[in-house]
Amino acid sequence: MRRAVIIVAAGSGSRMGGALPKQYQELLGKPIIIHTLETFRRFDPEMQVIVVLSPQHKQLWEKLSGSYELTRGVTLTHGGNTRYDSVKKGLIQIEKAEIVGIHDAVRPLVSPDTLRRAYTAAEQEGSGIPVIEMEESVRKVDPSGNSEYLERDSLKKVQTPQVFEVHKIREAYQQPYDSSYTDDASVYESLFGRVNLVEGNRENIKITTPTDMKLASLLMVSAE
Ligand code: C5P
Repeated sequence: MRRAVIIVAAGSGSRMGGALPKQYQELLGKPIIIHTLETFRRFDPEMQVIVVLSPQHKQLWEKLSGSYELTRGVTLTHGGNTRYDSVKKGLIQIEKAEIVGIHDAVRPLVSPDTLRRAYTAAEQEGSGIPVIEMEESVRKVDPSGNSEYLERDSLKKVQTPQVFEVHKIREAYQQPYDSSYTDDASVYESLFGRVNLVEGNRENIKITTPTDMKLASLLMVSAE
């Protein structure tokens, strides 16, 4: 089946600090978004790659496209105010693919095995959502500060790419926005029910803070 990926990169990255949004900051001498593009291109050189950018980052992207050949074949579109809006804009750009992954630009360390598992599950069963085990105890805290233990074994951490049949995820994104939509799987399941979980990889962190940057560069060095 023909595949596509929507790489959402239109966030401001304000939690990271610094002048550049995190997806444009460099890890081992290369912008994070370029590492992410390379990972998908290596996985499937034929797949359509859609990058959703903020109009405010237009010049940043133009600078990258002058330096990195692999930005050439990419379909570009502008994002919206929320991730939900940015994904919607990306879905419009899919040309021929039957299967699409939706991936955070700030997760450059997704492994080829995770990609294979997520895309294969979506091809066979409609959706493939990578998850990993919770390694720490978790507590639910209410606004008054009371907290309760949660059963860790029943909880999973959700990663991207979340992969779907194109016609289904497009239909799911026709629903009006709801605050329960925390990721693409929650948008999909509100229309189609159960999603298929697959194993993610622990290195596939979402780079959000300066500590994540340090961690990601260590992980990248050890993967080389
Ligand atoms: O803000 P958050 O951490 O949820 O961002 C996750 C991903 O979604 C990032 O890659 C970010 O660039 C993207 N995003 C987007 N459009 C927005 C907000 C976030 O493409 N309006």
